[in-house]
Amino acid sequence: MARTPKYLWEVQKAPSTLDYALQYIQLGWFIVPTWNVSEDGTCRCGRDNNERGHKPGKHPQANLAPRGHLDASNDPRVIQDWLSTDPDCGLGISLAHSGLIALDIDPQNGGVETLEAIEKEHGVLYSDCIAKTQGGGEHRLFKADANTSYPSSLGAGLDLKHQGYICVAPSVGVSGSYQWFDGKSPISKINPSLPSELPKFISDKSRPHATSYELVERGGVPVATAQTFDDLKEALKCVDSDDYQTWVNVGLALHPYGENGFATWIEWSKTSNKFDASVCRKKWDRDLDTPHSITYRSIFRLAMDNGWTGPNLKSASSQVLLEGESSSHPLSFDRAVHSGVEQVSTFEYLLDDFISVGVNVLAGPPGIGKTTLAIPLAVSCAHLYPVDYTLAPLIRRNIIIVTESVIQVQRVLYSLFTWGNTGARASDFEERIKVIPSQRLDAEIVCQVAEEYRTWTVPNEMADGGTYDALPLVVFDTANSVFEIENENDNSQVGRVMALVKQSFDGFPVIIIAHTAKALGDGESNSLSPRGASAWSGDAQGIYQVFKDGEEADSPRILRATKTRFPTEFNELTFNLVTNCQDHKDILGYDNRVWFQHSIARPLADGERLSAKQRKKDEKQWEAHLELCEALKNQIRSDPDHAITYYTRMSTAKGGVAGSQQRKEKAINHLIGENIVEQFQLPNASRNAKYGLRVNEQQITNNELDNLEEIPF
Ligand SMILES: [Zn+2]
Repeated sequence: MARTPKYLWEVQKAPSTLDYALQYIQLGWFIVPTWNVSEDGTCRCGRDNNERGHKPGKHPQANLAPRGHLDASNDPRVIQDWLSTDPDCGLGISLAHSGLIALDIDPQNGGVETLEAIEKEHGVLYSDCIAKTQGGGEHRLFKADANTSYPSSLGAGLDLKHQGYICVAPSVGVSGSYQWFDGKSPISKINPSLPSELPKFISDKSRPHATSYELVERGGVPVATAQTFDDLKEALKCVDSDDYQTWVNVGLALHPYGENGFATWIEWSKTSNKFDASVCRKKWDRDLDTPHSITYRSIFRLAMDNGWTGPNLKSASSQVLLEGESSSHPLSFDRAVHSGVEQVSTFEYLLDDFISVGVNVLAGPPGIGKTTLAIPLAVSCAHLYPVDYTLAPLIRRNIIIVTESVIQVQRVLYSLFTWGNTGARASDFEERIKVIPSQRLDAEIVCQVAEEYRTWTVPNEMADGGTYDALPLVVFDTANSVFEIENENDNSQVGRVMALVKQSFDGFPVIIIAHTAKALGDGESNSLSPRGASAWSGDAQGIYQVFKDGEEADSPRILRATKTRFPTEFNELTFNLVTNCQDHKDILGYDNRVWFQHSIARPLADGERLSAKQRKKDEKQWEAHLELCEALKNQIRSDPDHAITYYTRMSTAKGGVAGSQQRKEKAINHLIGENIVEQFQLPNASRNAKYGLRVNEQQITNNELDNLEEIPF
C-alpha cells in the first residue's frame, strides 16, 4: 500500500483540476489534458457534439498534447503549464504508460450482463480502484505491464483499455461526470485505494508483447520477423490514429495479417479518442479487403515522415532498415559470395538464353504491337504455349501483368487460349496469370507490392529431387502507366525508379515495357536515343528493342536483344502473327465481329532476316528495272533506229529516260532478250553504232494475247 497522499483534504475549497492532476502524478501516473464539456453540455473544443467521429469532451487538446496521450506527462512543471493554459480542461490517464489497464464496463452495450456471466464462472474481476464513468458504467483499474499485450475486449460492452487512455475525475462528459467510487478512490484522503493485481482470468489472456506475432502473408510465407512486428508497433506510436484516412490505410496494410494484424490495428486505434471497438471490427471485416498497394512498409514510411527514426539507425536506406534480420552493412564482408572458381554460377533465365531474371526493358514505338507480342512471350513462361513452341522455357512461373490496356491483354490471352493450340484449360490461364489494371504511383509505392508478389511462387522440380520456387514474372505495361515520374526525360528520376525496382524486385524477372518516341528503323535500333527509352534502359539488366523489319504494315516484327549480361545463342526473335475473328455481343448486346490477335515468337535464324531483306531489296530493284524497261521501250518506239548508246547516254534534259547508263543498258538488253526490242544493222553503220533498235510490235501483241489467255473467261 502506497503512502497516504499529501494533504488534499486540508484544502478548504473544492479541489481544482490542477490538484487532481498533481495527485495523479504522485501515483506515478501519466496524464493528458482533454477538452472537457462546458456547463451547456457542449464540447469546449468548439466542434458540434454530433459531428461524425467527435467524442465530445473526451479527446485530448492537440494544442497542449499534439500526439494525444502519447504526450502524457508526469512532470509537475508540464502539468502546471497545461493547467495554467486551461484550468478547466479534463484529465485523461495514459494507461500502459502508467502501468495500468482499465476494464471498461459499458452498461449501454450489455457490459453488465457480459461481466455477470464471466464473474459467475471465473469469479469477481475485483479491483480496489474503480471509477464511475459518465454513462453510468465503470472503469476498474488494474496493474498491468506496458510490454504485455491484452485482448481489447472480453465481450459485448466489456472492453480492456491498455494502450490508450481513459478520462478520470474531475472530467465531465455529455452524460455526466467521472468520479471515483466511495472507498475505491486512489486519491481518497482517508483510505486511498490503489489498482489491484490483474485477475487471473484476464492475465491468462495476456501474451508477451509482440514476440508471439508472426507476420505472415497470403500463401503462408513469413515476410517479417517478430522484431519487425515490434518495430511496426513502435512506428505506429508516431502515427496519428485520429485521421480517418490514415486509420483506414493502416488497417489496409495490416489486414493481410489476419487476427494478428487486427490486434495491432486495434491497439493503435485505441490511441484515438474516436476509438470504437465495434466500428473497428466492422471496418476490418467488411471494408478492408479491397485491392490496394499499401503494405506495412507504408506504415514505416509514414512513421518516418513523422520523425520516427526507424527500427535500425545504421542506415537511412529504407531497404536496409526494413529488412530487419541483417544488421551488417549492405557491402559488408558478410555479404561476400564465392569466387566462382569451384562452383559455376548459372544465370536464371526467363526465356532460356534470351532473357534472364532481373529488370529488363522492352522498348518500341507506340502502335507497333508490343502487347500482342510481349504478352504471349510472357505467358509462355507459365508454360502456356503452343505444342510446337520452340522457345519453351525450362522454369515455369506465374505471370503478373500490370497493364494500362486490360482489354487488349485479355483479348491477346483469349486468342492464345482459343487458337494458340496450347492444350491448356481456361483454369490453367486463370490460375497462372493475374492481370492487374495499372495505376500511376510513386515508385516507392509500386515497389511495396513486391513483397506480396514474392509469395506467389511456383515449385519447380530439381534434378536432385528438391524443389526450386520460381518467382513470378512481373510485366509493367507500360512504364509510363505505372510509375509516376515528373519528367521522363530526366535520367536521374528514371534512374531512381529503376534502382528502387531492382532493389525491391530482387530475384524477380521483370519486364518493363517502354515507348520509344518514334518508329525506329532497323538501322536505328541499336541507338536508344529517343525520348524516355534511353533513361529507362540505362540501368536495365537487359534491353530488348521491338521494330518492324520493313516499311510495310505487315512487315515482320523483330525483338532484338540489344544488351544482355550473358552470351546469347541468338539475339533476335521474330513473330508469327495469328489473327482470327469471332462474333461476340458488343456493349449494347448486338452481334459484332471481334478480331483477335496474338503472336508466337521464334528465334530468327542467322541470316534469315538478312535474306528476307535482300529479297525485299531485290524485289524493289526488279520493279524499278521493269519501269525502266517500259520507259525505254516507249522511247525506242517513238524514236527508233538508233544505237543502244544513243538511248543510254541521252540525258533527261534532251528527252532521255532517267537512270544510270549501266541500268539503262541492262534494261535494253533485257528488252532485246525478251524480243520486245530487236536489233538490225544500220545502213550507214559507223564503228560505234552498227546496230539500230526498234520495237517488235508483233511480240508485244503476242505477249498481250498470251496474258489474255490466262484470264479464265
Ligand atoms: Zn470536442
